[in-house]
Amino acid sequence: MTVRTRIAPSPTGAPHVGTAYMALFNLAFARKHGGQMVLRIEDTDQSRSTSESEEAILSSLKWLGLSWDEGPDCGGKFGPYRQSERLELYKDAIQVLVDNGYAYPCFCSAERLNEVRKKQIENKQTPRYDGHCLNLNKEEIEQKMQEGLPFVYRLKVPTDGTCVFKDELRGEVSIDWNQVDHQIIQKSDGFPTYHLANIVDDHHMGITHVIRGEEWINSTPKHMLLYEGMGWDAPIFAHLPLLRNPDKSKLSKRKNPTSIDYYKDAGYLPEAVVNYLGMMGYTLPDQKEIFNLEELSESFEIKRMSLGGPIFDLAKLKWLNGRYLREQLKPEDVLHRLMEWKANPEFLGKILPLALKRLETLSDFFPLAQFLLTDTPDYSTEELVGKLEAANVAKILKIAEWEMEKLPQWNRDQLSNLFQQIAEVEDLKLKQVLPPFFVAISGNSVSLPLFDSLALLGPDLTRTRLRSALEKLSSAGSGLSKKGLKKLEKEYVQKYGNRID
Ligand code: GLU
Repeated sequence: MTVRTRIAPSPTGAPHVGTAYMALFNLAFARKHGGQMVLRIEDTDQSRSTSESEEAILSSLKWLGLSWDEGPDCGGKFGPYRQSERLELYKDAIQVLVDNGYAYPCFCSAERLNEVRKKQIENKQTPRYDGHCLNLNKEEIEQKMQEGLPFVYRLKVPTDGTCVFKDELRGEVSIDWNQVDHQIIQKSDGFPTYHLANIVDDHHMGITHVIRGEEWINSTPKHMLLYEGMGWDAPIFAHLPLLRNPDKSKLSKRKNPTSIDYYKDAGYLPEAVVNYLGMMGYTLPDQKEIFNLEELSESFEIKRMSLGGPIFDLAKLKWLNGRYLREQLKPEDVLHRLMEWKANPEFLGKILPLALKRLETLSDFFPLAQFLLTDTPDYSTEELVGKLEAANVAKILKIAEWEMEKLPQWNRDQLSNLFQQIAEVEDLKLKQVLPPFFVAISGNSVSLPLFDSLALLGPDLTRTRLRSALEKLSSAGSGLSKKGLKKLEKEYVQKYGNRID
């Protein structure tokens, strides 16, 4: 058997370090066993998937030096490697599942489903579909379809008993069927959901080992059932521990930068990031701390992965990065990396037009440009608050952070519109809104033009700076309390008509 692993990112946002973490261990496992790793794009959620996100994921994984044997960019004999291009396969699978009694159409309205859910919650039951449409006979189904009623397909889950499956790291895992929902496997728009598309592709792409995050353990019974319904053997499963924030919660961008691009923009070395990810839940048999993908692959034994949630600690990553700069690279290599990063004509050339008006000598340039070449600048809470009230500063910083999440493109004009809108909605002048942002972003109340600077910094460094300004306010006792944040969230959704993800 040739080992085949895969990573299956959904292109719905910035490239996440969790994706790189999964890619690294899938790759190490495949290499160790002389196999292959596939990269598959899971874009069945059409409303959230974008080609920009797909490109960003691929290019950030490549920046890290992680590669794959088959994928949407390099092809392969099991393609296409984007789920949106494989819809026929999922339609065929639905037919097989219906014929074999593992799936059924459901015509329930959203109102009915809400009612059922409400009652179940009232009765302290786990909310799940009540199997109402299982009682429809063939004629009723045909009639409803002819009437053109919208419908989905659901997975038929046993009413009692237990699903037992093997996990390479945990041994036997048992989950009672009554904890498993009658999952929608095809939506009313004819698109499959993750569960169906995922197992169909893993089968057709010859995946032998599904190595993924532990958040999918509870979905595995559904997948086992789908494999059974299709008459296919299930692959071997290994659910890796999830990366955690220092407070042990699941790694989230609210508490830690999670975008791979942040690490690139903030001046981390790709090999140090990969090394650090390799230390998350794993130690090399010889306890070595500095290692690369080849060394990890050579000695990799999946059973050595520990199940405790590994803490993704920025301070530790920084320390490791420093060791790489001093111990692993020659000074001339460091210089080369510095130039590749930001000390190059292209990047400095973008800053120059912003700074030109303020230059008297060449030596004025670097102090002005400095904040675009650092991670987070330094300033005091007093400077940040300026003439405004601290509570209002916290509020507009937070609103800007939320609004930025929704920006379709990160450029000067979009950013300028965003601040105009905030000023308008908050009934303030732009002149009143901007000063704290100048300080949060550049460390100074006077600086290069703000919108252009934000455009150059990019979304990840900007988000980190806004967050660190908010933290500064909190430690000074004038930030947003938990209650205040909840209130602001409500107000924001109402006034700006946006959700908060
Ligand atoms: N598309 C899923 C994700 O983005 C893949 C999960 C899996 O590996 O099965 O997490």
